Amino acid sequence: MASRYLEPRLERASRAAMTRLQLRRLREQVAHAARSSPFYRRKLGAARVDPVRIRTLDDLRRLPFTTKDELKDNQAKHPPWGDVLAVPLVDVVRVHLTSATTGRPLAFLDTAQDWHGFYHSYARSLHAYGVRKSDMVMAAFSYGPWIGYWSGFYAAQDLGCLVYPVGGLSTEQRLDALLTYPITVLGCTPSYALFLAEAAAKKGLDLAKETKLRITWHTGEPGASIPATKAKIEAAFGVRAYDLPGLTEIAAWGFECDARAGLTHVHEDYVYPEVLDEQDRPVKPGERGELVFTSLYRKAMPLLRYRTRDVVQLADRRCPCGRTLVAFEGGVLARLDDMKKVRGIIVYPRRIEELVRPHRDVDEFQIVFRRVDGLDDILLRLDPSPALALAERERLREALARDLQLGLGIRVSVEVGEPGSLPRWDHKARRVKDERTEVPF
Ligand SMILES: [Zn+2]
Repeated sequence: MASRYLEPRLERASRAAMTRLQLRRLREQVAHAARSSPFYRRKLGAARVDPVRIRTLDDLRRLPFTTKDELKDNQAKHPPWGDVLAVPLVDVVRVHLTSATTGRPLAFLDTAQDWHGFYHSYARSLHAYGVRKSDMVMAAFSYGPWIGYWSGFYAAQDLGCLVYPVGGLSTEQRLDALLTYPITVLGCTPSYALFLAEAAAKKGLDLAKETKLRITWHTGEPGASIPATKAKIEAAFGVRAYDLPGLTEIAAWGFECDARAGLTHVHEDYVYPEVLDEQDRPVKPGERGELVFTSLYRKAMPLLRYRTRDVVQLADRRCPCGRTLVAFEGGVLARLDDMKKVRGIIVYPRRIEELVRPHRDVDEFQIVFRRVDGLDDILLRLDPSPALALAERERLREALARDLQLGLGIRVSVEVGEPGSLPRWDHKARRVKDERTEVPF
């Protein structure tokens, strides 16, 4: 199927051709950073790296890492943009902010060409999901300073789609638009997709039957790469749902493949991925590690060896889609920053979601890490579906407690509340509370 690929020459490149392209871009980026970014000039100087001596992709490993904390410190010391900036400010056309849970968000700048790179990599992802020029796309995002949303909108337009911006519309108005216009593609966070589905169900609407939707894509949260969450969205909307991983600081760096659910390809011509173990050595295919990206296209803030804090697993077999792009199994499997320790056991909120979502009677949930009688404890609060009979709630509670204990290896307290009692999320969900960090010793 020729039209499966937007850019077959890149998506099916031989390894030798891709390596040549990556090396040429890497050398350009390192030289540019050393020449024009005061931040990188200091960093590369301190590490005694001479850009002209980068001759192979393996030489990349001699470069120092870049962390988000460093970038934040840099912007705090040199407000408001920091001195990572490697182009004159007059050449910058866009600023976006990272979504920060603590402290000031990072401001990220792009030239016109950088911006094109960001949304074009996103467009290639949308094309891989099957989005075409003939589609009408609803981008149900807030149009705040977050890059994922603007780039999703521009990406759909880049493919020639008819794009319907609904940033300022209420959920009610968005539902009305889905029933009124021939909208075939919806992009939003997975939490918002579930919220929209719930709102439709309350009004007695069947989105699978009453809309023309055929594809949804989800970003901002890992939800769509969790099989049970994806299945829930697909059933509610009558679509195929896809996960789109992205990072403000790097790119819309990949896409979940339609040939194998959960397998995520990387746009290797835009970003060079390394997957590193705890000693910062490259992992073997089939193994997990931290994803480290080097941007191969961005000139305003050209990040080198950026530690994403995301855990991925390098795929160990070729994807049946015919692409040669590097792939990860299951998308982003965990965020190191979300890791919690409970009675010596490591727990990731994503794992809890994997265990909760297969229970169809759960509409919403909240995870509380707390201390009870001096001991760590996890409390899961459930918001049951209004359709669940009162007498069935105890059965649901017991089933969840059993699945969580088996899946996590520790006991979890489960509480079932009243339907609709927990907060719903129209952007990124904040389902996790850690009360332990609020308790001083
Ligand atoms: Zn594939």
